[in-house]
Amino acid sequence: MNTYWMRAPEGLILFDTLRTLTDARQALARIRDTGQPVAAILLTHAHPDHVGGAGIFKEAFPRAPIYASEASAKAMREDRRGLYALTRSLPGSDFPSELTHPDKVFRAGATLTIAGTRLRTAEFPHAESDAATVYYEPESRTLFPGDLLGNRVTPALVEGHSCGWLVQLDRLRERYPAAGLAHPGHGAPAPARDLISRQQAYIKHFRGLVKRAVRESSPAGRRVTRAERRAIIAAMGRAHPRHPRVASLPTLMEENVKAVAAELVSTRPAELPRVCR
Ligand SMILES: [Zn+2]
Repeated sequence: MNTYWMRAPEGLILFDTLRTLTDARQALARIRDTGQPVAAILLTHAHPDHVGGAGIFKEAFPRAPIYASEASAKAMREDRRGLYALTRSLPGSDFPSELTHPDKVFRAGATLTIAGTRLRTAEFPHAESDAATVYYEPESRTLFPGDLLGNRVTPALVEGHSCGWLVQLDRLRERYPAAGLAHPGHGAPAPARDLISRQQAYIKHFRGLVKRAVRESSPAGRRVTRAERRAIIAAMGRAHPRHPRVASLPTLMEENVKAVAAELVSTRPAELPRVCR
């Protein structure tokens, strides 16, 4: 998982805060090496690996506000999926016992002026996470897409919005035709256009494999058998080798299959947007 800092006229703008306290402290040491203060902390979404370290940065730079959209701030407060409890329960989790919540909550689509820099925001819900904010800095054409984009990583499809994610990736491409470099939530920065195409290709490939396994005519009909699941995971591994998992969940791929199978079984192909068919 990544945290990024961008130089602005009045200090550094930090995007996301990592999961563990240890990782956040290490990033903080590198930030201190720049000799610049952190002027603001921006969150892309409420997943544990993006908000866990917020308290470390806030403690180091108490005057830096933590920004999040209304939807993301709400997702952090409610944690409907119990992700924070789950993260704390993992062995050696090193996740804060109490979250540090945003103190500057903005409306969907707000343009922010932070530390002398203008950033455009947009919401991309029901995709990789229930709520997600993308930040765009128009001068340098830099995109901070959070986990809507990853670079050579195994994504989390556990929230069962694989179709929603494809739709939002179309929106992302349309909304930022001039975007240059994207700084993804996981993996190295790369041209936004390439990452969007590759993210869509990955999800479409995965959906295609799961779709076959939930066909009535497949071995156990609408149910995914263990052999089918193994075959899906092996095929994805061959097509996308050495892709680290975005979540600490060791069974992420199994969970992805389960979630996308449930999603496919509950939707009728004819009702789906074209990009999901
Ligand atoms: Zn993430």
